[in-house]
Amino acid sequence: MTHPRWKPQQAALLRRRRSLLAPMFGDDCGIATASGADYQAWISPADRQRLAAVYEALDRIDRGNYGLCTGCGAAIDRVRLESIPWVRRCVVCEDRQGHAEQELEAA
Ligand SMILES: [Zn+2]
Repeated sequence: MTHPRWKPQQAALLRRRRSLLAPMFGDDCGIATASGADYQAWISPADRQRLAAVYEALDRIDRGNYGLCTGCGAAIDRVRLESIPWVRRCVVCEDRQGHAEQELEAA
Protein backbone atom coordinates (compact mmCIF):
# COMPACT_ATOMS: atom_id res chain seq x y z
CA MET A 1 0.00 0.00 0.00
CA THR A 2 1.18 3.49 -0.78
CA HIS A 3 1.29 5.85 2.10
CA PRO A 4 -0.96 8.78 1.11
CA ARG A 5 1.94 11.08 1.84
CA TRP A 6 3.89 9.76 -1.13
CA LYS A 7 1.10 9.72 -3.69
CA PRO A 8 2.51 12.71 -5.63
CA GLN A 9 5.99 11.16 -5.67
CA GLN A 10 4.61 7.81 -6.74
CA ALA A 11 2.65 9.46 -9.55
CA ALA A 12 5.77 11.32 -10.67
CA LEU A 13 7.81 8.09 -10.59
CA LEU A 14 5.23 6.26 -12.67
CA ARG A 15 5.22 9.10 -15.19
CA ARG A 16 9.00 8.96 -15.32
CA ARG A 17 8.94 5.21 -15.81
CA ARG A 18 6.40 5.62 -18.59
CA SER A 19 8.48 8.22 -20.39
CA LEU A 20 11.62 6.08 -20.12
CA LEU A 21 9.80 3.06 -21.51
CA ALA A 22 7.68 4.81 -24.10
CA PRO A 23 10.32 4.62 -26.87
CA MET A 24 10.21 0.85 -26.60
CA PHE A 25 6.62 0.08 -25.83
CA GLY A 26 4.63 3.00 -27.09
CA ASP A 27 2.48 4.86 -24.66
CA ASP A 28 1.19 2.20 -22.32
CA CYS A 29 1.31 -1.24 -23.87
CA GLY A 30 2.60 -3.72 -21.30
CA ILE A 31 4.19 -1.20 -19.00
CA ALA A 32 1.86 -1.64 -16.08
CA THR A 33 2.59 -5.34 -15.63
CA ALA A 34 6.15 -5.78 -16.88
CA SER A 35 8.87 -6.19 -14.28
CA GLY A 36 12.06 -4.18 -14.19
CA ALA A 37 14.29 -6.91 -15.55
CA ASP A 38 12.29 -7.65 -18.68
CA TYR A 39 13.43 -4.77 -20.80
CA GLN A 40 16.79 -3.90 -19.31
CA ALA A 41 18.54 -5.34 -22.33
CA TRP A 42 16.68 -3.00 -24.65
CA ILE A 43 17.60 0.36 -23.27
CA SER A 44 20.75 2.44 -23.09
CA PRO A 45 22.97 2.12 -19.99
CA ALA A 46 22.06 5.66 -18.90
CA ASP A 47 18.34 5.02 -19.22
CA ARG A 48 18.76 1.69 -17.51
CA GLN A 49 20.31 3.47 -14.55
CA ARG A 50 17.49 6.01 -14.47
CA LEU A 51 14.93 3.27 -14.70
CA ALA A 52 16.61 1.31 -11.94
CA ALA A 53 16.48 4.38 -9.70
CA VAL A 54 12.78 4.79 -10.47
CA TYR A 55 12.05 1.13 -9.68
CA GLU A 56 14.06 1.34 -6.52
CA ALA A 57 12.12 4.38 -5.37
CA LEU A 58 8.78 2.72 -6.16
CA ASP A 59 9.95 -0.30 -4.21
CA ARG A 60 10.87 1.88 -1.24
CA ILE A 61 7.40 3.42 -1.30
CA ASP A 62 5.96 -0.10 -1.17
CA ARG A 63 8.18 -1.11 1.69
CA GLY A 64 7.55 2.03 3.67
CA ASN A 65 11.10 3.36 3.79
CA TYR A 66 10.75 5.88 0.99
CA GLY A 67 12.13 9.31 1.79
CA LEU A 68 14.87 7.97 4.05
CA CYS A 69 18.47 8.48 3.00
CA THR A 70 20.18 5.22 1.96
CA GLY A 71 23.44 6.62 3.31
CA CYS A 72 22.60 7.83 6.80
CA GLY A 73 18.92 6.92 7.27
CA ALA A 74 17.82 10.50 7.89
CA ALA A 75 14.62 11.81 6.35
CA ILE A 76 15.35 13.44 3.00
CA ASP A 77 14.17 16.99 2.58
CA ARG A 78 10.61 17.10 1.28
CA VAL A 79 11.41 19.74 -1.34
CA ARG A 80 14.25 17.56 -2.61
CA LEU A 81 11.89 14.60 -2.94
CA GLU A 82 9.43 16.73 -4.81
CA SER A 83 11.98 17.90 -7.35
CA ILE A 84 13.79 14.53 -7.64
CA PRO A 85 11.37 11.80 -6.56
CA TRP A 86 13.86 8.98 -7.28
CA VAL A 87 16.61 10.49 -5.14
CA ARG A 88 18.30 8.03 -2.78
CA ARG A 89 20.39 10.19 -0.53
CA CYS A 90 20.19 13.39 1.47
CA VAL A 91 22.28 16.39 0.40
CA VAL A 92 24.91 15.69 3.05
CA CYS A 93 25.53 12.13 1.86
CA GLU A 94 25.32 13.27 -1.75
CA ASP A 95 28.15 15.71 -1.19
CA ARG A 96 30.16 13.05 0.56
CA GLN A 97 29.64 10.44 -2.17
CA GLY A 98 30.49 12.54 -5.18
CA HIS A 99 28.62 13.56 -8.25
CA ALA A 100 27.66 10.41 -10.12
CA GLU A 101 24.12 10.55 -8.90
CA GLN A 102 23.76 14.23 -9.55
CA GLU A 103 24.48 13.66 -13.20
CA LEU A 104 21.82 11.01 -13.23
CA GLU A 105 19.33 13.35 -11.61
CA ALA A 106 20.06 16.24 -13.89
CA ALA A 107 19.41 14.21 -17.03
ZN1 LIG B 1 22.22 10.99 4.31
